[in-house]
Amino acid sequence: MLDDGRVLHAHFRMTGDWHLDRVEDELPRFARAAISFDDGTRVVLDDPRALSTLELHAANAHPELGLGPEPGDPSLTARALHGALAKRRGPIKPALLDQRLIAGLGNIYAAEALWHARISPRAAASSLTPKQLATLLAAIRRVIDRATGARYTDASINRLAVYDREGKPCRRCRTPIERTVQAGRSTYFCPSCQT
Ligand SMILES: [Zn+2]
Repeated sequence: MLDDGRVLHAHFRMTGDWHLDRVEDELPRFARAAISFDDGTRVVLDDPRALSTLELHAANAHPELGLGPEPGDPSLTARALHGALAKRRGPIKPALLDQRLIAGLGNIYAAEALWHARISPRAAASSLTPKQLATLLAAIRRVIDRATGARYTDASINRLAVYDREGKPCRRCRTPIERTVQAGRSTYFCPSCQT
């Protein structure tokens, strides 16, 4: 939602994701759209396959987006998430990218949050306990706040815990980070401390 009430709706499709940087930085190779803010930060829609779409809806248009709550929405609780995942088949990581479940959670932040919560991206979504989901939800909020909140710095972007760190030591236990592909998206995880 923009300050003037208009709604900008991004569909990441297969390979799109947000990339956060500063206006003076060189654009990522597959930048498709860029939104610059007054404080010098910039949000770039980065998409190698250019399948993503951006829709701008007029204020009060109330578009039926079929979107779930955003990560910061108080209605998104561990209990609600547990209910939504109970009948779901398949692993947790692709579920987190389903915009009907949680709106606006990108691929990088989903991988990062799972690492912080010590949950394997391959864990069955329906097998997670409310306690694990509470931990995961807190991790999602922390990861997003760190990227977009007041403490935003270049260094915080460059210090991802697992994303794009295949073969590098886990920042918790030193086990080499592994990469896998789920539903067409790369994910990175520690095979030792994410179970
Ligand atoms: Zn580890």
